[in-house]
Amino acid sequence: MNKVAITECKRYDSKKLREAILETIANSDFPTLEGKTVLLKTNILSDSSPDKHITTNPSFVKELATICKERGASTVYIGDSPALPGHSFKGEGCKIAEVCRETESQWADFSKKTVSKHIWQNIEVPIAAIVFDVDVVITVPKMKTHQLMYTTGAVKNMFGIIPGLNKSPMHLKARSPENFAKFLLSLYDARTPDYAIMDGIIAMEGAGPANGTPRQVGYIIGSKCGIAVDFAQATIMGYDPMDIPILNQAKKRDKNADDIEYTILNAKDCVIDDFRRIAVKKKNLVSSLILPFFTRYFDRKRASKRQEPIFIHDRCRKCKKCVDICPAKALSLDSGKIQLKEEKCIRCYCCHEMCPFDAIKID
Ligand code: SF4
Ligand code: SF4
Repeated sequence: MNKVAITECKRYDSKKLREAILETIANSDFPTLEGKTVLLKTNILSDSSPDKHITTNPSFVKELATICKERGASTVYIGDSPALPGHSFKGEGCKIAEVCRETESQWADFSKKTVSKHIWQNIEVPIAAIVFDVDVVITVPKMKTHQLMYTTGAVKNMFGIIPGLNKSPMHLKARSPENFAKFLLSLYDARTPDYAIMDGIIAMEGAGPANGTPRQVGYIIGSKCGIAVDFAQATIMGYDPMDIPILNQAKKRDKNADDIEYTILNAKDCVIDDFRRIAVKKKNLVSSLILPFFTRYFDRKRASKRQEPIFIHDRCRKCKKCVDICPAKALSLDSGKIQLKEEKCIRCYCCHEMCPFDAIKID
């Protein structure tokens, strides 16, 4: 049974954060750090300002890094690798680089050194070598909705250990939410974090993970098990956790995956009734029992039933981030406008995630 600690914390105020993080880790099997190297794997989807609440809040990361040092960590690394072209991302815009300077932590450049691993269906992926080099990995996700997977979370946050644009082809290889969930769980298994702690103080509701609305939730969730943190998150958001593809797959492979002891607050007592969730598309008998036998073909069919992205051209600044990330090469900038080749689109919503100007909508 996994211990999950949920503590109340309403603001990113240093004193309150410190108290709440200490209470969380004291009640959820936090690992010993004496003499160990530690990586805080933050959620930096894009290098956006903290007031957009797309990224793990820098004040949260700062208190956590400070606590890790006080607990004897020999070196604290902080890092993530958003799906951006090029190397040497530093996290200046999201203020995590500033946290590194203030706490004398080291920024971890995930693209600097990678190792290749075979994971789900023997797909070979490059993974940031640092996650295997450090003694302790702590995943530090932000509580957010997600257009494809309904929620982000501790498991999904580990997708960032695949550096930069190497991530997007994985959407082509695992197109349906179910297969993408299996892929993410295999990646999580490749380097299971030693602890997970979620910034759910100001979450994101609506069209997450990048273009939703900040929402005061006021909780920190910690556990030795990231999957258990994600069960708690889904419950607080008002989802049936079994509707979340990652959690559904986690439960299929381990019937005890949702066996949780809540040591402080129970997630069921923290539900935000009017939290704006992504609508769940329920599966029927055919799609759940018959289609999986014909995975590749039906992945495409199921994808085509999902809503395609809609481009709001008068908001578009032609930055081409959507074009760069699209794994299906379905987008181009032609005649001064972003053009979508519908037949190529696999409805992965990476373009929606990456658009910095909220110029892409999913109905
Ligand atoms: S257009 Fe957007 S949703 Fe369609 S495949 Fe490309 S990135 Fe994915
Ligand atoms: S990412 Fe957004 S703003 Fe940039 S080109 Fe695409 S639609 Fe336009």
